Amino acid sequence: MASLVSSFLASFLASSCPLCDRTGHPFCPDCERQLKRCQLAQPLAHWRGPVPQLSWGRYQGQLKQAIRHLKYHHQPQVAQPLGHWLGQVWLGHQSRLRLGQSPVVVPIPLHPARQAERGYNQAQLLAEAFCRTTRLPLAPGLQRVENTVAQYSLSAAERQQNLASAFAPNPAWTNRRSQTVLLLDDIYTTGATVNSAAIALNRQGIRVVGVLTVARAIQPKGGDTG
Ligand SMILES: [Zn+2]
Repeated sequence: MASLVSSFLASFLASSCPLCDRTGHPFCPDCERQLKRCQLAQPLAHWRGPVPQLSWGRYQGQLKQAIRHLKYHHQPQVAQPLGHWLGQVWLGHQSRLRLGQSPVVVPIPLHPARQAERGYNQAQLLAEAFCRTTRLPLAPGLQRVENTVAQYSLSAAERQQNLASAFAPNPAWTNRRSQTVLLLDDIYTTGATVNSAAIALNRQGIRVVGVLTVARAIQPKGGDTG
């Protein structure tokens, strides 16, 4: 109930910036300028390998703050502009990706217990905004079957282990024959989360053709760790 009330208040106060409370929608001009500074100049730099990946921006500065507000400060309205911007990048680059058939978009699910605590799944909200912009279909392709410990405290190897059996295809998603999937999440760090989700879908013969995230953490030593 508390989350419903605060969602209502959030929409009622939608003309104030969710990051700093100054006037502006969806962000005030200052926050928007700082957010746009995080945008990646080459979003296709990591579109390669078995699970190619595309992000809108770097996980730093104001974009990091925005995602924290979305996940931990109960600001679900932050998902709309971020998902829309990711959608614009997708529309600007999709013709170069040669995906063949049109994929469906599957958000990375939260465990039901964590979703109940937060009141929403931020990846679902981002995917809804992304799909409104791109007109791609959204599918509830996955369920989270294990409530894993928070990833940020773990090493890359520990993350993969932590998530090894965290996901399963959603039995409620019946229209999945011969579908190709784009996974969508808020942040790409080591890739452990999306790799685990892709493995769960691959076991059912569902092909993941790419991973989309709003932000990508830049690894300190250059190269990827997963
Ligand atoms: Zn602001």
